[in-house]
Amino acid sequence: MYSRISLLRGRANSFKKLVFVGRKYDLRGGSPLSPGCGLSPINSTTCGRFLGRFWGESRSYSTAGEGESIEYDVVIVGAGPAGLSAAIRLKQICRENDSDLSVCVVEKGAEVGAHILSGNVFEPRALDELLPQWKNEEAPIHVPVSSDKFLFLTKNHAISLPSPFNNKGNYVISLSQLVQWMGTKAEELGVEIYPGFAAGEVLYDNDTVVGIKTNDMGISKDGSKKETFQPGVALKGRITLIAEGCRGSLSETLMKKFNLRERGNGQHQTYALGIKEVWEIEVNKHKPGSVIHTLGWPLDNKTYGGSFLYHMYNRQISLGLVVALDYQNPYLNPYEEFQRFKHHPAIKPLLEGGNVLQYGARTLNEGGFQSIPYPVFPGGAIIGCSAGFLNVPKIKGTHTAMKSGMLAAEAAFSTLHEGSSMEVYWDALRRSWIWEELRQARNYRPAFEYGLIPGLGMSALENYIFKGRLPFTLKHGKPDHEATDVAKQHTPIEYPRPDGNISFDVPTSLHRSNTNHGHDQPPHLHLKDPAVPEQVNLPEYAGPESRYCPARVYEYVPDEEGKLKLHINAQNCLHCKACDIKDPKQNIQWTVPEGGGGPGYSVM
Ligand SMILES: Cc1cc2nc3c(=O)[nH]c(=O)nc-3n(C[C@H](O)[C@H](O)[C@H](O)COP(=O)(O)OP(=O)(O)OC[C@H]3O[C@@H](n4cnc5c(N)ncnc54)[C@H](O)[C@@H]3O)c2cc1C
Ligand code: SF4
Repeated sequence: MYSRISLLRGRANSFKKLVFVGRKYDLRGGSPLSPGCGLSPINSTTCGRFLGRFWGESRSYSTAGEGESIEYDVVIVGAGPAGLSAAIRLKQICRENDSDLSVCVVEKGAEVGAHILSGNVFEPRALDELLPQWKNEEAPIHVPVSSDKFLFLTKNHAISLPSPFNNKGNYVISLSQLVQWMGTKAEELGVEIYPGFAAGEVLYDNDTVVGIKTNDMGISKDGSKKETFQPGVALKGRITLIAEGCRGSLSETLMKKFNLRERGNGQHQTYALGIKEVWEIEVNKHKPGSVIHTLGWPLDNKTYGGSFLYHMYNRQISLGLVVALDYQNPYLNPYEEFQRFKHHPAIKPLLEGGNVLQYGARTLNEGGFQSIPYPVFPGGAIIGCSAGFLNVPKIKGTHTAMKSGMLAAEAAFSTLHEGSSMEVYWDALRRSWIWEELRQARNYRPAFEYGLIPGLGMSALENYIFKGRLPFTLKHGKPDHEATDVAKQHTPIEYPRPDGNISFDVPTSLHRSNTNHGHDQPPHLHLKDPAVPEQVNLPEYAGPESRYCPARVYEYVPDEEGKLKLHINAQNCLHCKACDIKDPKQNIQWTVPEGGGGPGYSVM
């Protein structure tokens, strides 16, 4: 693990205090820090003075009421590919221009990468631009794609189709590991990364965003302060970049407050849920770089989705099922579909004799070009999958997330140094290859609104003939939460019991996700109206939250009178955000829990 300046150091299992840990040298090449300041709780007054000296004029530290306030030039929320690319690019431009900007990144995972789940077949285009020397710098990108197969599955057969993917020059990686490495690169350039701290609130000055506040820590379930209470810290930025990934909670607030979707003439966003395991398989079955995608079984013809199977290194494979969240049947259970999928005759033999290393789930954007919001708000911008730059036919969003972060960094620098405005990020986006890529791919996903076969036909035409040149743009169907039918239109689905070798129950899988939240903290899953689950979701939709949640957070259990009541096991939450998206009445609101909680991924 890399060392870090960590003013706000978070760890999932140890309560956080304001501490200085790690490097004892000035990142601008100045004098070493006083050894007395290392590894000890900060007295805010002393350290305020100290930090003022250390950071120079561009940053100051103060206590405002109960909480501390730290000022930066740029505050970035989320240490994913987008946030870290923005941070790295900012520091690079500073070096190129012989200037400096203070940049901090706040990350809710206990470690950088701990909340990152992806496929991942990695297209290195943005990384080539950002860190062209990456091949010489021990980047965890070792396995070039060696073969590309596309299969249509029926219950018992696998039919090979021409692969629409062109993964030549791409790599099979763990994105969680790539961002850990990017974190070290960012720190080497002087970026301050604070893992274990969740940005819970946007700070405004009138209607301009002036930073974020991290969540208070040490609050008990009933709202009282525990002995360990520490107020949240205001991280104030002259510019704030939001890089929370798909369905970010602050991003959603900002998009609503500033009407960004309407301003960008964007349609609603559409989503899918990806459920994934990393397996270690028998050596004779392992083919590093082999990439397989499937469509069809176990999903029905009306449900868009498919599987991915990527051979990594060290006998590891990345295996997952992606299910579009506009599915109609409320009895569908994406977790169980994935368990069933692994028993297909084309998949099961590969897994036999192997074992699961990690499990997790995460949503991804599918709205593409039609759903891009205006990504600039007063005081900052939204980057990466929070804005929704994933290319659906490629199933790739890492390279576009990174590039959007780089463009926003360039806009931030010119705003702070040359007096332009963040609007230039929007212009740069529309001139960039992200725009061209997403525009070309725009009709692929909505074509599947008409079912699997028309969708396949249309996507083949787009891919091989029209290449985005059709003179129209298809619209998305209903938002995902409105797509769920009432239960009486469907019959319950009987899923097979897990066999404990290939398929597993939820508690076993959860254990493999290393998920952990402090039990005695305010719930981070809010019901806007607590009556809706029992009065609407259960009678009308047969309680779909008990099935779409891949961590069984929502359970209907009988009360003393035998009536079914919704019980929320918030501590199991994988931060996938499916409930925030799919709840039929949009009654569930996902907010960030105390920092450091949630999954602990390392190879996802
Ligand atoms: C199942 C699946 C398969 C995929 N396969 C591929 C693939 O093969 N190739 C590809 O290129 N892309 C793939 N993608 C897409 C890719 O993972 C995303 O496009 C990419 O991760 C987006 O990067 P990001 O930085 O925008 O967001 P993320 O990677 O989601 O990172 C966001 C970070 O912000 C943190 N965060 C969020 N909110 C807060 C907050 N309030 N406070 C503090 N921290 C916060 C999160 O913990 C996280 O670390 C896949 C995605 C999924 C789900
Ligand atoms: S509670 Fe919501 S965010 Fe958490 S795992 Fe379940 S569906 Fe995902």
